[in-house]
Amino acid sequence: MSLGEFDLIARYFTRPVRRAVLGVGDDCALLALAPGMQLATSCDMLVEGRHFLPTVAPQHLGHKALAVNLSDLAACGARPLAFTLALALPRADEAWLEGFSQGLLALADAHGCELVGGDTTRGPLNICISIFGEVPAGQALLRSGARAGDDVYVSGTLGDARLALEAFRGTVVLAGEAFAAVRLTMEQPQPRVVLGMALRGVASGAIDISDGLLGDLRHVLRRSGVGATLDVDAVPRSAALAAQPLAVQRECTLAGGDDYELLFTAPPAHADAVREAAVRAQAAVTRIGRIEAEAGLRLRNARGCTLTRAFHGFDHFRS
Ligand code: ADP
Ligand code: MG
Repeated sequence: MSLGEFDLIARYFTRPVRRAVLGVGDDCALLALAPGMQLATSCDMLVEGRHFLPTVAPQHLGHKALAVNLSDLAACGARPLAFTLALALPRADEAWLEGFSQGLLALADAHGCELVGGDTTRGPLNICISIFGEVPAGQALLRSGARAGDDVYVSGTLGDARLALEAFRGTVVLAGEAFAAVRLTMEQPQPRVVLGMALRGVASGAIDISDGLLGDLRHVLRRSGVGATLDVDAVPRSAALAAQPLAVQRECTLAGGDDYELLFTAPPAHADAVREAAVRAQAAVTRIGRIEAEAGLRLRNARGCTLTRAFHGFDHFRS
């Protein structure tokens, strides 16, 4: 690399720490947890050709790499503290590094989440972030918490990222404005961190939707030992997606992937508290179904008819 490894780290990835005890530059970073807090940690890897197109702007890639990790903290109701960045780069391209670090650190600042360390090596483009957050002991939202009788909710709208991908692939045609809107959702998802924290003590279970609504709901059902009926026509969608044929709407909302919205459950007695949490977090939340004791997932349309068509969430080793 023309720009040396240590110059590269110093120029693009080192900033004074504010909350961490020790950041980039030593063998370990040091974080202090407040008394009574548990550490929530998660790790996500982005691989070129698998998770993003080679043509994506580096700024958007920086944003998305951190957004998917923040979304995991959000799903647990944890407050972001810090993250580390393991980066394999084919070359030290300064324009790329400038854009990537800008997108990454702007989102980090927006959530008060500090970059405290990492690793940098030459190799095929690969971005791996480990993130650390805090949550009051025993209050993390878990996939295993859903109970029969709970309502099922989702934040925001679903399916736009998949619609954008299909537009890139040329399988759907979108007008310029609609394309710009769904492309923004795909490239710069906004993780629901504030909503996740507001749902502590309100939601019974939660997951973030990264692989498609049905696949991720099934994770919750399995971990909680319950089943559910889902009102597929109640799943919220954008105006751009609502203008598409129903089959496209269904595929994108139910099995789209890359949504980074929260799917959560709460007992009916908490319905008001759910609405208050949504207002506090300035997020839309919509009730889309009910948890039942009977195992399995049943899909119903607005007329109350059961749907039999199979939709699958994303699985890296099946597609
Ligand atoms: P070590 O030899 O202990 O692995 P390195 O020489 O790889 O340390 O890294 C030096 C310092 O720079 C460490 O504090 C490490 O956490 C940090 N670092 C390396 N790469 C990155 C990166 N991409 N982003 C942020 N910090 C980094
Ligand atoms: Mg190292």
